[in-house]
Amino acid sequence: MRVAVVGSGYVGLVASACLAELGHEVVCVDNDQEKIAALVNGEVPIHEEFLPELLARHRGHRLRFSGSLPEAMRDSRIVFIAVGTPPAENGEADLSYVEAVARDVGRQLRDYTVIVEKSTVPVYTCEWVRRVISLNAGAPVEFDVASNPEFLREGTAVTDFLYPDRIVIGADNERSALALRELYEPLTSGDYYRQPTAIPRPAGSPSTAAPLVATSSKSAELIKHASNAFLALKISFINAVANVCEAVGADVEQVTTGIGLDSRIGPRFLRPGIGYGGSCFPKDVMAFRAVARDYGYDFRLLEEVMRINDDQRQRFLRKVRNTLWTLKSKRLAVLGLAFKGGTDDIRESPAVAIVRALLKEGCEVAAYDPAAMERARAEFDGCAVHFCSDPYHAAHEADALLILTDWEEFAALDLERIAHALKYPVVLDGRNLYRPEAMAQHGLTYVSVGRGTVAGAAGRGALSRTAGSVKE
Ligand code: NAD
Repeated sequence: MRVAVVGSGYVGLVASACLAELGHEVVCVDNDQEKIAALVNGEVPIHEEFLPELLARHRGHRLRFSGSLPEAMRDSRIVFIAVGTPPAENGEADLSYVEAVARDVGRQLRDYTVIVEKSTVPVYTCEWVRRVISLNAGAPVEFDVASNPEFLREGTAVTDFLYPDRIVIGADNERSALALRELYEPLTSGDYYRQPTAIPRPAGSPSTAAPLVATSSKSAELIKHASNAFLALKISFINAVANVCEAVGADVEQVTTGIGLDSRIGPRFLRPGIGYGGSCFPKDVMAFRAVARDYGYDFRLLEEVMRINDDQRQRFLRKVRNTLWTLKSKRLAVLGLAFKGGTDDIRESPAVAIVRALLKEGCEVAAYDPAAMERARAEFDGCAVHFCSDPYHAAHEADALLILTDWEEFAALDLERIAHALKYPVVLDGRNLYRPEAMAQHGLTYVSVGRGTVAGAAGRGALSRTAGSVKE
């Protein structure tokens, strides 16, 4: 099938590469001409596992890049809209990019086309897109608008797309539903998984074909917002539990094991830390709250989810102060700038917010991230942030080491080397990557989330509080 994907960001580019992998003819279009030129030249603009392989496999054959929407739409049966929907001042989603694409699509429509929302949008957006396309179509032309929300996670985007928990098709008539069913048939039939060249199945993913959920467009729009809101809620819930653990001297890791073994709850997304970030959860929770309010429901639970999340960063900063006393002129090693491990995305990153707050208090930061340093360099241009070649370089002569992103490699540091590199053997871990006892054995003072602080190497000058609680 010939498909156009408008937007070549994290979602659009991954969707384009994966749809080409499924055998479709894809044109990925963007109005950022520099991005298109880079993609045409063989560059891979985002850090995402398996994406370079897919681009190399399909670029110039089944996958093409273009700066021209008319060219991309020519002969396309399906047009995906995968542009950004950032938050507006009032918390609602800014749908101006979606509207701009809908206008342009309307002007270019010639034959029956299914226009599909891939961007995360509030309920009723399908209706608006329909209206805008009709208003802008030169002559009467048949088209449908459907919703096909994307659930991929940055860091595992390609395998999430190809081995999804579910594919949601929100179509209000059979004709558009059929086109989308056909598009995803290699996944829903399981044919793709039998191909010898298929991208390998990730560990833990079910070995069956991908389940398809067919709904109305409104239900599909709500499924996406409700899913992200629930996941954010799970994170805030466990962070609140971690705070109680700190207050009473319990260990949140033991508590999450006990909670997570309940099959109704499950262990995933029960990881306490410095809160959620990224380009999706913060804006989607806000947008869901806003759209519920617009339609007469005061979804106050979501307010609390956001409040706990903001507070979690502040609590971590208080831990830094409580551990190091004054912060002015302290040199802090920071491991992690991306909003989570596996990606170079620093949008709404809690790590970036924490570094900003530390800089404001007069700290000097030595930072290392395996993938996000290029983006972070632009973010911290002119600030007291030094970018280092590895974690040990960052730790060199630092007053403390802060772990802010859950990169796998940060969970496997040579602790002996870290302890020797640091000026004071102090580690503040916002992601609970280590067992406190292991850190104490290496002589490190270790402050984490929802667990007592362990004090190591008292005689080597570490400034530490031994109680687990955070001074409010
Ligand atoms: P992004 O900012 O990485 O990419 C958006 C792209 O759209 C940019 O390249 C931009 O140049 C392009 N664009 C904007 N206006 C355009 C226009 N008129 N014509 C052509 N191109 C245009 O955004 P993203 O992270 O890919 O997110 C896109 C949407 O998908 C958002 O609604 C987001 O909430 C949703 N989503 C994102 C993720 C994720 O993990 N990033 C996951 C699921 C859903």
